[in-house]
Amino acid sequence: MSLARSSRSAVSPTRFLFLFSDTGGGHRASAQAVKDEMARLYGDAAIVEMVDVFVEMRRWPFDRFPKLYPVAVGMNGIPWYVGYHLSDTMPMVKLLSGAAWPYAGPSLCHLLGQHPADVMVSFHGVPNAALLFARRKLALRSPFAIVTLDLVSVHAGWFTPGAHMYIVPTEAARQRALRAGVTPKRIHVIGMPTRRAFVEVRAMPQSEARDLLGLPQDRPIVLMIGGGEGMGPLVPVVRAIAERKPDAHLVVIAGRNQMLYNALRVLDVPVPLRVEGFITNIAVWMRAVDVLVTKAGPNTLSEAFIAGLPLVLYAAIPGQEEGNILHVVENHAGVWTPKPQAAADAVMDLLTHPEQRAAMAACSQALARPHATTEIARHLWDLRR
Ligand code: UDP
Repeated sequence: MSLARSSRSAVSPTRFLFLFSDTGGGHRASAQAVKDEMARLYGDAAIVEMVDVFVEMRRWPFDRFPKLYPVAVGMNGIPWYVGYHLSDTMPMVKLLSGAAWPYAGPSLCHLLGQHPADVMVSFHGVPNAALLFARRKLALRSPFAIVTLDLVSVHAGWFTPGAHMYIVPTEAARQRALRAGVTPKRIHVIGMPTRRAFVEVRAMPQSEARDLLGLPQDRPIVLMIGGGEGMGPLVPVVRAIAERKPDAHLVVIAGRNQMLYNALRVLDVPVPLRVEGFITNIAVWMRAVDVLVTKAGPNTLSEAFIAGLPLVLYAAIPGQEEGNILHVVENHAGVWTPKPQAAADAVMDLLTHPEQRAAMAACSQALARPHATTEIARHLWDLRR
């Protein structure tokens, strides 16, 4: 039994409420990673409840956000880009949240009443101003923390002043928090929460990871992934890479995107292509492969840094993922190739120049924050009164 467990066994457990939403795969993955870490560190002394804040509000259209999100982001990106940038100031965040409040406020207050907690934590950028209104209305005095889940171009909604703690992944994100008016001592630069499996799997030889997944041992492996929802033009990217007939094994993960999965399964390409749907052991896959072709999602990138993978970025969600491209490219951890042929060129380049691949892999690993999840869990634990 850990020291933390035994010393707190006589007192009642601390209840944490983690608010997230399945808009993309990253919010749940991050919240779950911190929840698992709290269980590991504090055992039964920490009870963590995870609630999809939009779904549980049971109020249209908020309860449809997880389903609408891939559609909204996918519409050639322009409406999302415009909406993102127009709303990316603190006055706009407050105005929009204030406008939605008469309709959404009672549901949000009801939700918080249904999930009493000693510490409240948001893992989403959108509901924070409304959560702060609701907390005032309900006279909630419990500590409130926001764990920011974008690396660089963090939307103003994450930094609504009034929370007790803001955990951010990079110095660039801290600068944005300061510009939004957050009190400096409430900002903690720690890193992105990632599942512990990504750290643990580093001890596994690559050959063992390949055996576990039924992958070949005799050539490099290229993994392609578009976040939890299989976003971006993955089909043309996969086709462009396959048509170069690389001396490599190709794997693509479609995530929850069933249409993409179906399209990939019947894709006529001149080399073998393994297609997977949503998988839960990404850490093992990242250990097994040599190159990652991905959308610039913050979670996938943070995981790939821990795995030390060279990156080919084929897409980025306009707005929140734009800064991630710079973060990767300026630190020489990968290349930005928004056209399928350019992505194929980059993959071929990395496959034919192992020394270049190794240098990029080292730069990727230098960006890793493998202990961020533990530190975040400790910071949240220390907030309890
Ligand atoms: N993911 C997963 N299984 C899959 C596809 C994705 O667990 O089949 C996880 C991936 O490891 C990452 C998250 O989903 O943690 C995707 O987050 P990211 O921020 O990269 O993109 P989003 O899906 O939020 O746009």
